[in-house]
Parts: sequence; C-alpha cells; structure tokens
Amino acid sequence: MLKALTSSFIIFLLFYHVTNAQQPQKSNSVAIYNQILKLNFLGSVLYIAAHPDDENTRLISYFSNETKARTAYLSLTRGDGGQNLIGPQLRELLGVIRTQELIEARKIDGGEQLFTRANDFGYSKNPEETVGIWDKEKVLSDIIFSIRKFQPDIIINRFDHRTSGNTHGHHSASAILSVESFNKSNDPKVFPEQLSLVQPWQIKRQFFNPSWWFYGSQAKFDAADKSNFISIQTGVYYSSIGKSNQEIAALSRSCHQSQGFGSTGSRGEETEYLELINGELPTDKANVFDGIDTSWNRIKGGEPIGELLSKIASEFDFNNPSSSIADLVKAYSMIQKLDENHWKLIKSSEIKNTIAACAGLYLEAVAQNQEVTPGSVVKLKLEAINRSPIDMQLLSVTTLPDQKNTIQNVVLKNNVLKNNSIDLQLPSTIENTQPYWLKEKGTDGMYAVTDQKNIGIPDVIREVKVVFNIKINEIEIPFERIVVYKYNDDVKGEMYNYLDIVPEVTTSILDKVSIFTTSKNKYIGVKIKSGKEAVTGDLQLELPKSWIVQPKSISFNLDKKGQEQTLYFEVTPPNTHEEAVAKSVAIIDGKRYDKEQINIDFDHITKQQVLKPSESKFIRMDLKTNNERIAYIMGAGDEVPNSLTQMGYKVTLINAEEISPEKMANFDMVITGIRAYNTVQALANKQNILFDFVKGGKTMLVQYNTPNDLVTENLAPFPMKISRDRVTEENAEVHFLAPNHPVLNTPNKIAAKDFKGWKQEQGLYYPNEFDKAFTPILSSNDKGETPKNGALLIAPYGKGYYIYTGLSFFRELPEGVSGAYKLLSNMISLQNPVTIPDKKVKQ
Ligand SMILES: [Zn+2]
Repeated sequence: MLKALTSSFIIFLLFYHVTNAQQPQKSNSVAIYNQILKLNFLGSVLYIAAHPDDENTRLISYFSNETKARTAYLSLTRGDGGQNLIGPQLRELLGVIRTQELIEARKIDGGEQLFTRANDFGYSKNPEETVGIWDKEKVLSDIIFSIRKFQPDIIINRFDHRTSGNTHGHHSASAILSVESFNKSNDPKVFPEQLSLVQPWQIKRQFFNPSWWFYGSQAKFDAADKSNFISIQTGVYYSSIGKSNQEIAALSRSCHQSQGFGSTGSRGEETEYLELINGELPTDKANVFDGIDTSWNRIKGGEPIGELLSKIASEFDFNNPSSSIADLVKAYSMIQKLDENHWKLIKSSEIKNTIAACAGLYLEAVAQNQEVTPGSVVKLKLEAINRSPIDMQLLSVTTLPDQKNTIQNVVLKNNVLKNNSIDLQLPSTIENTQPYWLKEKGTDGMYAVTDQKNIGIPDVIREVKVVFNIKINEIEIPFERIVVYKYNDDVKGEMYNYLDIVPEVTTSILDKVSIFTTSKNKYIGVKIKSGKEAVTGDLQLELPKSWIVQPKSISFNLDKKGQEQTLYFEVTPPNTHEEAVAKSVAIIDGKRYDKEQINIDFDHITKQQVLKPSESKFIRMDLKTNNERIAYIMGAGDEVPNSLTQMGYKVTLINAEEISPEKMANFDMVITGIRAYNTVQALANKQNILFDFVKGGKTMLVQYNTPNDLVTENLAPFPMKISRDRVTEENAEVHFLAPNHPVLNTPNKIAAKDFKGWKQEQGLYYPNEFDKAFTPILSSNDKGETPKNGALLIAPYGKGYYIYTGLSFFRELPEGVSGAYKLLSNMISLQNPVTIPDKKVKQ
C-alpha cells in the first residue's frame, strides 16, 4: 500500500503563524474551516518544471487555496547546480538546502512537493545535451511514476516543449518529458515494473503556463492568438487572513533564500494564462476542472461522505470548532470502509488532522537528545492534551520502527495535560539519518535511488515515530507523530529539531584539499566526534603507498557524547606530481566508521544532517611562489582564499571600505571574489585606488561578475564588456591564443591536460568585447558554438597587470583540480616571475 506522497499536515499552513521551520502547526478556526472545504474536493493539479524556484507560486497558491485542489510541484532536480548566496555549500549540499526551501515554500502556499532522480549538473544550453547527461529513460520513468502516484487531473508545464534552446536546457527538457508522459502514463506496457506500486493513470488536460517572457515582450504576448488559452484570475483576496493570493505567493517565493529570491507581494486583479497542449479545452474557460468530477461521487461509495462533509461545512461554528468533531469522526469511519485506496489514504490523513485541530488535540513525542546512535534506548517524553468537551481515551502508544505497543488507557479530559515517559529501543540496524538520495554515489546526471517506492519523496525519510491510538466517540483513530527534540533559545524562544540517528563516531579531515608544493612533510589534522558516551578506538589516515603517514594509527578515547578531538598525522608526499584521495577512518571493535557529519543549520529550514565519505584530496605539485601577499575582497562568497593559503600565499580578507593607497601598500596583489562587482557597492568608489595599485607595479585579478546589477561600469582600466557567454562543457577543448604568454609558461608550463577533470563548467559570463590592450589567452566553446575568447584576459597597465577571468576557479579549487591551481599560481607570479619569461607575445 502506498503512503500519501507528503502528509497533509502541511496543508493550509498559510493560516498559521510559523516562526521556526520545525515548530508544530497549530490551527485556528479559519484554517480548520478551509481544511473542511478541502476535504470535499477531490481534484488535483501537478505543476512541472526543472529547478527549485522555477514554479509559479501564484498558480500553486491559487489552486491550493482558492480551488482547494490537491496541488503539487514536481521539480525534476533539487537545484545542486545553482549559486549559494547564504553559505559556502555547493553541489549536493546546496541541493539539500534548496530541497528544504521548496518544502518550506509549499508549507506557505499549501502545495506538496515532488522530485525525480535527475541531478542539476549545471547550466545546459539545450535539452538534447540535458537528456544526454541525465538518464532520459530514468527521468521519464520518475515523471510517470509521480503521475501514477499523484494521479493529477491537470498537468501544467512551466516551460514550452516547442522552443528548445530559448532557455536553460533543463527547462525545455522538463516540458518535453512532461508532454511525452501524457499518453504513456496510462499505458500499462510503459514501465510495467512500477505497477506493483502504482496504477496506470490518464491525465485529463495538459497545459503550458506562458508569460510574456516567452514571447519577447508584453506587447507581442498581448497580440498573440489565445484561442487555445484559458485564463485564470489569480488576484484573489482572502479576507479571512487579510492577504491577497499574490502576497501568499510572494511569501512562498521568499523561502528561496539561497537564491536571493526575496519577493514582494502585489494586490489587485491578475490574470494567468494556460495554453492547452493535450486533452480537450474546457467549455468554461476560467476553470481547468470544467467537466471533471471533483466531488466524492468520483469514487464508489463516496457520495454520502461528500454530503456529510457539506453539512459539516455549512454548520461549522467558528467560535466552537469542536462541535464538528462528532460528524468528522463519523466521516472518518465512513472513509475507512471505502474500497478505493488513493483518495482514502489522502483524505484519512487530512481528516485526522482536522479532527485533532477541532479538538485542540496536541500530541508530541520529545527525545532527550537531538542525536542518538543505532541500538540505543531513546527516552521519550510524551505529551497528550485534548482541549475540547468531547471525551477521548488514549488507548495505547506504538513506537516505530520497533512497533512496540504500550497500553495507556488514559482518559483525556478537557484541557487536562497528560505527560508520560517511555523508552524506545532503536534497532542496531537502523539507518543513520541523511537525505536518502545521497546515500549511494550517483552520476553527474542522476542520483542513485534504487528503491522504487522512495522515488519522488521530497524529504529525508524519518523512521522514528510514535503513534497515539485515541478513541473518540467509540472510533479508534491512530495519530502519528515524528519524534522531535526541542529546547529553549534565549533569543529565539522555543526551537524544534527532528531526532537524528548518527554514527557512533564521525571523522573529518580539516582541509578538503591539501597542496604539497615540495616533498616536505605536513601535519594533517583529523577531527573526530563521538555520537555517544565512552567511545574508544583507533584513528587512521589512509593514503596510497607512495605517501608516508606517521603514525599508522592513533588511539582515541572520547568520554562524552558530542565530544570532539583533533589528532594530527605527519604526511610526507612523493617526490613527483601525484594526486591522491585521503580517507580518515575510525576503527572501533574492528568496525570501520568512515563518514563525515555535515550539519546544515539555518533558521528558515529544518536542520539537516548529511553523511559523506570522510575524504580529502591531496596533491603533490611543484607550485613555485614568492610568498606573495594577497588582499582578497569577498563578493557573493567563495572558498578561494582557503585554496590560496594552501598554495602557500599570505592571504588577507579586506573590506572594500578599507581600501586606501596606504592599506594596499601592504600587498603584492588584489583578487576580487566571485560577483564582487555585483554585491559590494563600496567597490564603485575604490576602482581608481585599485588601478593605481596596478599602475605602480602590482597585479589585480577580477573573477567573474554578471552583466546585470554591476555596481560600476568602470570594471577595468580599459574598456571591456561582460556578456552571457559561457562554456558549460567542463571538458571542452581549450586552445591557447597566446601560447608564449608567461601566464601559460611561468613558473608552471600549462598544457591542454590541465583543463581536464574540471567540474560542472569551464567558466561563465566572459567578456565578448574588450580593448586591444587586453591579450586574450584562451579560446574554447561548447559543441556547435563559435569560439569564446574572453575566458582569461590580461592587460599590462603601468608597471603592473590587470587580469579578468570568467574561469570557474571558485568551483575547481575546492574540488582539487590541479590544472586550476597551476594556472592561478602563474597569474599570481606574473609580476614577480620566479624565472624570466619570454616577453615576446605571439598573437
Ligand atoms: Zn530553472
């Protein structure tokens, strides 16, 4: 039997006041009334696009809150390839953040969230490339599985399946695959292996949700033929909560903090258009469900349930919601007798929440600690309170996953708090808490999820729960609660987290990349953290034989749970260039513990634990430096300064406000972080000081900026224009336009192989127009495109050098790509060459 995709407790959250992402929701009368109306609507809408933040929250909120439809957003990816404006997390860790941001957005707009296994591998110029990197069959299978599981009447695509190449390839691919699913979802011969879990399903109508953007201008869109369009007035005002639909949608959109998508709501009339792609155009062109039965009559035996729910709604007493409990319990037991399974599960879950809300029934299971290890006993404090005159009885509680039933037989009298404590024995085989899609190693294009029934589930799967079995009006109803941990924060108040299962010990190599520029040894720190009390074992740092590690193993003894200790190994690298992956492993009673614990903790999302293999990249390379002193001006945020320190440079982070000729006299070079000229306003007034710094014989290196929102047009001492040119194929062949330029020769000889093994992309936002003072050094392009020559531009200015680069050093250095290190070191030594360069520059 299938569980509802996400439990319906998130429905109508917009009617709650949420201060902390994890706090339990407490309904008021308006929220309850809307839940009752929603119980009586059996229609559904699935919105499909590619990334977290592609979705039109105005439509999702409208269908969920105004139409009362079951509404979900299927984002094919979790957004790993994006930028991060709030922290250093990139790739899969960014995907974890963006997953949670979507889940929070849905709590506000009332939708549900779904995903496929497709990975956001970075920018893609067309859908052909996209489905070549994704496993097309698997993504199509996941979309069809979501459709068969969610059973939408209506599908809405954010993107146009007919205009490939106009937008991100992931976008077009999402629409193309969605259209392909229309006929295949109902064909039992398509992906028959799914049919043990789901049934074939026929979508009734499929739409594309255009906006003027797809037409080039508002005027062109206004003039377009709309005979195949329907229009929806989404500018609804909800007087019961004092918000417009757009204001709710803006709050939902503002959850995408990592993308800087804070959004301001609007008020007043607003029209959304939907162009019919498949199915029949509705007669009523303002109603997507026209002609589709969305009442309880659509399922056998459902009619009396619909009638009873109508009566409950019409008799609802806003001053006394508990007066609806008796009828709701009756409706609940009628739902239990249905043969149909799909709506039965969805509505059972919804109506239980409505009953609990009407009764002010608060149920909670709180663990003493936030982290526990497998096999341990979790002490739980249970709280149960009924705040209605309806007598209830707590018959028993069942703990999960051990399925132990404990008889309670406690009468829950109106407003009398019942506390109890129980022990929950965790199985020793229970899995550690982590995003299930990261448990196994995937490919560039796909997450590895082998268990079909987990595909599509948005969130971390949490197994530790308590079921409160409660008798109300002679009907026994099970209420399930995930075990939480809570504490009081002096500033923020009551804080909730979920219980996390952690390994007995986790380890972490302090530096994720270690550069050995000579064959001299280095001390490598490994941090070890205990997941429980009294952990004793041995720590080892594993490397290939050519690397000498001393000592072989270090014993540790951690008394307290959560205690951390850093131990050091002396590592001597080989004499010649070599790259290796170092692994830290703790051994306890012969068992290996090789995971690193990463906690992602922001106020706007639920705290996340990710367990990754505890690894780090070691590189032995001949990098020659002159101990250059580098001033680094951070932009949107990157890890480049750590990499520079690894390389042996002296790096100082400076604020743009501090820039003065006196201050700059302490440095040999200045580097601006990624998008510094998009994010640091103060740079606008400091350019002349920086250009004088160069003129006096120093080097300035500017990393990529986007052409929009530049704080100054005066980016370089010579004219230069940033474009949207990018090379997304990370292994695109690189041609040397100025092969004799010192930056390709001194001190490190750069060869084509140094551009192999790059991650995600080669570079982005290259200048496409630049003064002839600049020497373009490199040329490359994605397949089928013209050569792009703006990746690395160098201009002598006065006695120094100005360098502009769109190469994605911010991605490559933290990944330990040695070619990127060599090239960067050549840029730094341009002014102060370790050997005499050939001054003749051949073009
Ligand atoms: Zn997108």
